[in-house]
Amino acid sequence: MTTYGERLAAMNKAHVWHPFTQMKDYNNSEPLIIERGEGIRLFDMQGRAYYDGFSSVWLNVHGHNVPELNEAIADQLGRVAHSTLLGMANIPAIELAGKLAEIAPQGLTKVFYSDSGATGVEIALKMAFQYWHNRGTKGKTTFATMNQAYHGDTIGAVSVGAIPLYHETFRPMLFPSRVIPYPYAYRHEGGEQGAMESTLSALRQLLETEADRIAALIVEPIVQGASGIIVMPPGCLREMAALCRKHDVLLIADEVATGFGRTGAMFACELEGVAPDLMVVGKGLTGGYLPVAATLATDKVYEAFYADYEEQKTFFHGHSFTGNPLGCAVALASLKLLEERRMVEGVEAKASFVARKLAALNDRPHVGEIRQKGLMIGIELVRDKVSREAYGWTERIGVRASLRARELGMLTRPLGNVIVFIPPLASSEAELDEMTDILAASIVHATEGGTAS
Ligand code: PMP
Repeated sequence: MTTYGERLAAMNKAHVWHPFTQMKDYNNSEPLIIERGEGIRLFDMQGRAYYDGFSSVWLNVHGHNVPELNEAIADQLGRVAHSTLLGMANIPAIELAGKLAEIAPQGLTKVFYSDSGATGVEIALKMAFQYWHNRGTKGKTTFATMNQAYHGDTIGAVSVGAIPLYHETFRPMLFPSRVIPYPYAYRHEGGEQGAMESTLSALRQLLETEADRIAALIVEPIVQGASGIIVMPPGCLREMAALCRKHDVLLIADEVATGFGRTGAMFACELEGVAPDLMVVGKGLTGGYLPVAATLATDKVYEAFYADYEEQKTFFHGHSFTGNPLGCAVALASLKLLEERRMVEGVEAKASFVARKLAALNDRPHVGEIRQKGLMIGIELVRDKVSREAYGWTERIGVRASLRARELGMLTRPLGNVIVFIPPLASSEAELDEMTDILAASIVHATEGGTAS
C-alpha cells in the first residue's frame, strides 16, 4: 500500500519537468510538495511548516491564503472568470488600469496587460521597436541592455538577457543587443564610484556613437535581481535616464521584481525620481496570487500608435488571457491592502531591522558582501574574504545553504553563490527575526562546516 504522498512523489518524478532545474539532481532528492499556505508560511504534505523566505520566487506580498485576496477572487469568480480585452473590456481590468496609472511614476498613463514578466518585457520591446517605426524614424532597431541582466525566458527577453549560463545556448536564435557594464561595485576595482563611472561612460559612448540605431535601453532599476541582487550606486539610474533622454533613446524600466514596495518605494524608479517611457510590472502586482503582468506606457509612446486604421500603426499583439478579470480583481485587492496597511511606508523599518540582524554576518570568514535595498537582500559568499575569490560552481555553496535553511524551516533559492532573502512584505518583525536567524545559521553551516545549527 502506497500513501497518497508517495504516489504524488512518484507522479512528480514521472511527469513534471521543473523550471531552472537539472532533473537528474532533482529526481535524486526528496521532493518538497506544498499542500497549503497560511500567513508567510507554506506547509508540506507531512504538515511541516516553512517560512517563505523568497516570497515564492519574489512575488508574494501579503502572505498566503489571505482572506481579503481570497474574497476578491471568489467575488469575481461569481461574476465571470475570464473575458477578453480584444474588442471589449471588463470591469476589474479597467479599474486596475486606472489604479496603476494613478500610482505609477509620472507620465505612465496607458496599461497593456499580459500574463508574466517575460511577456510584459516582450511587449515593451515590441512597443519600443514599433514606436520608432510608426514615427518614421529609420534604423532604431536594436536594444541596449546591461551585463548580467535578466528579463525573463521568452526569446525577446532572452535577447536582452546577459547571464551566460542561462542565455548563451540560445545566442544563435536571438537578436543581438548592445551590452553595457552593470555597476557591480563589489567586483569592480574602483568600488562604487569606479563601477558607476564605467557604466556611465560606456552608456555615454554607446549613445554618442549609436543612438540612431538604438530603440531603447532596458534596465532593472536600482536592483539587478537574478545576477545576484546587485544594488546600483546612488545616482546611477538617474544619470542613465538623463543620458537616454538626451540621446532620444527610450528607457524601459523592468520593475517585475522591484515593483510594489519591494525596495521601499512603490516602484524602484521613484527612488531616483526617474520616469521611464515604458515600465513592466508582474510578480507582486497580484500580491503574488495570479499570473497578471502589465506594460505601462507614456502618452508619447501611445500617440505614435494612435492613427487611422489604414495607416497601419496598430499594435498587433495580445494574449488570450489579457486583462484576466480574476487576476485584475485580486491585483486591485492587493493594492488596496498595500495602501490601507501603509505597507510600502513600513518597508523601511523592517529593512533596517533586517540590516541590523544581518550585520553580525559581516564578521564571518566567507561572507563577502551583504547587499540590500528594502526587503530585497542578497548575501554573496566567497571562498576567500580578502581576495574575494568565488566558490567554484561545483561546490554548490548556495544550494547547501538553502538546503540547510529548509531543514531549519525556511525556503529560499540561491543565485549561484548568492543567498537570497526576499520575505513577503507582510512579514512581522518577530517573523523577520526568526527568518534572519535561520538565514545566518544556514550560511554558517554551509561555509564553516556545521559549527552552528
Ligand atoms: N524581469 C525581471 C527583473 C525578473 O526578475 C523576472 C523574473 N524573475 C522577469 C522579468 C520574468 O518574469 P516571469 O518569470 O514572470 O516571466
